[in-house]
Amino acid sequence: MSDFDDLLDANRVFADDFGLSGFDGIAHAGVAIVTCMDSRIDPLAMLGLKAGDAKIFRNPGGRVTPQALEALVLAVHLLNVDRVLVVPHTRCAVASNTEAELRQKVSTSAGVDAAWQGFPVVTDQRATLTEDVHKVTSHPLVPASVKVGGFVYDVDTGLLEQVV
Ligand SMILES: [Zn+2]
Repeated sequence: MSDFDDLLDANRVFADDFGLSGFDGIAHAGVAIVTCMDSRIDPLAMLGLKAGDAKIFRNPGGRVTPQALEALVLAVHLLNVDRVLVVPHTRCAVASNTEAELRQKVSTSAGVDAAWQGFPVVTDQRATLTEDVHKVTSHPLVPASVKVGGFVYDVDTGLLEQVV
């Protein structure tokens, strides 16, 4: 018995019909997506893509962190990516709480002080998105031929709005 039995059962069903055997790991649609960990976002479906089409990097807020840049440099040079979408979303927890509020909520949940824990809060989502896109376009290892766009995903309509 494992805490993961339900998921492993589902995995066996998935593997019964597995169609990606021997598939390479490049992004077949040439797309990389940096987006939030939010469960309301289905990154492939929202762009009409399928497994194998895109590289996806997720974190709280869909931020272009140093780790996201590492992923994008690999994606651009080794994995066929020539378009990058940076996609934060409406009603995101890290854009609608202060760091103090998140620390308070986590402290309450954890029952221990979380004041030392950093959270990547955003006060102006659109300005931050513009900065994050610039982090990609200005990276010395991201060639100018790579198209980079910043979009806000509306979790209530499913629509993307291009901001930059
Ligand atoms: Zn979010």
